[in-house]
Amino acid sequence: MSASDPNCVFCKIVAGQIPAKKVHEDDEILVFHDINPWAPVHILLIPKQHIVSMVDVRPEHAPVLGRMMALVPQLMRDLGVTDGYRQVINTGRDGGQEVMHLHMHAFGGPRPWKRG
Ligand code: AMP
Ligand code: ZN
Repeated sequence: MSASDPNCVFCKIVAGQIPAKKVHEDDEILVFHDINPWAPVHILLIPKQHIVSMVDVRPEHAPVLGRMMALVPQLMRDLGVTDGYRQVINTGRDGGQEVMHLHMHAFGGPRPWKRG
């Protein structure tokens, strides 16, 4: 799998070709607000590398996935989420994945939420 896909919307965000409201960026990971939030706080965490979905995950991806997971508590705290949150990874068509670049949703904030 190549490091980036020129037709991928999330690769375009990584490349700065499409704007996003960034929450966190480091050498391997980008986090930004979802354009169509389901909850008061709805962020997406992505590896900068173009991994299509969880189906394509290999053992060498474990460190970046672990770092994505471990970032969530700090980011949610920084965004003012104080009473819990939900993390979701949709995988493939039957899993409801629409953007084919692996991403983890994190939803939080006071309910009711629009969805989820
Ligand atoms: P999924 O169904 O898990 O593939 O979710 C894809 C998510 O990406 C949806 O919640 C969309 O609202 C979100 N999304 C799509 N395009 C953008 C974009 N340009 N900036 C931010 N979020 C986006
Ligand atoms: Zn991509």
